[in-house]
Amino acid sequence: MRRRDWLISAAAAPVAAQAMQAGPKNIVISSANGQNACAKAMEVLKAGGDTLEAVVQGVTLVEDDPNDTSVGYGGLPNEEGIVELDASVMHGPTRRAGAVASVRNIKNVARLAKLVMEQTDHVMIVGEGATRFARAWGIPEINLLTERARMAWMAWKQSLRDPEGHNNWTDGLDAPDTKAAAALRTIWPEASDEMIAWAFDMARHPTTGTINCLALNSKGEMSGTTTTSGLAWKIPGRVGDSPIIGAGLYVDQEVGAAGSTGRGEENIRMAGAHTIVENMRHGMDPQAACLDALKRIARNYNNDQKKLNQFDINFYALRKDGAYAGASLWSGRVRRGYMASFEFSVNDGGASRLEKCAWLLERKA
Ligand code: ASP
Repeated sequence: MRRRDWLISAAAAPVAAQAMQAGPKNIVISSANGQNACAKAMEVLKAGGDTLEAVVQGVTLVEDDPNDTSVGYGGLPNEEGIVELDASVMHGPTRRAGAVASVRNIKNVARLAKLVMEQTDHVMIVGEGATRFARAWGIPEINLLTERARMAWMAWKQSLRDPEGHNNWTDGLDAPDTKAAAALRTIWPEASDEMIAWAFDMARHPTTGTINCLALNSKGEMSGTTTTSGLAWKIPGRVGDSPIIGAGLYVDQEVGAAGSTGRGEENIRMAGAHTIVENMRHGMDPQAACLDALKRIARNYNNDQKKLNQFDINFYALRKDGAYAGASLWSGRVRRGYMASFEFSVNDGGASRLEKCAWLLERKA
């Protein structure tokens, strides 16, 4: 696509909500998996709670949920079958930040990042040091790998083959002619066909997930958090954008807040959340600010759509006056045979709702 064309597709994108009002009011936005998180955060805001406490309590629900395979407990593991979590927080009123990365055995890493912010002279603690820091505060250690996530990991290991079609993790030379799915069933005899199909789908197309959650209260205070299990099957120790202040999260309550989900490598290279906040500082509305950041990602590939088509990335922005937007690189993605558009969650005092993301490039089915 030529530059002029993708500018046109951005202009033709469905208009994301740009809620404008006279003064600040309580509002929480998040990635699409955060409807419950937004509702919880709103409850805390309504009770007069701090904006960072609100978003951390919100995302804790998602970290605790074994069915969200991209965040916290139940997240898909690294290539060795070990779940490693990343998280960051930023507190607008005090302008402080905290982050943890590659954390093993600790479920609520947004809360742990908040502890780094509040109880240390550091901003970021990673790996074994982060687990030991949590241990020092008496935070219980648990195995974060659920059976469901382990099944998907094993399906992934069984799917890897050398050019001759061999795989040491499945049928050996001396084995009867079994299929990988049948091999999985010997370990999980109770697993339904859907479950096995899900595991192989995750092996081939692991969901990207993560939750980013941003809040504004009626006093004009803002905070945000991003928490994730990162990319499935990653190399141990790989850190994505979520715990990187300025990439996966940025808050400046004089201006607004922004965050991201999707392929973190792209975001780190252009400091997405900070770019969006700076765009808003210079007058762009939240949607334009997010689309501009996405254009920089496209530019990093010289707008090569074949390469860009291999990943997804989304940005979310909340301005200090309550205007907000979500925007994705692509107009949608094929999920279970149909094209689904990208969405984000919003709660402005009632029930949480999903709104459509604006987008930069149109993905044809
Ligand atoms: N952004 C996360 C990361 O790169 C992953 C995701 O959102 O799916 O670690």
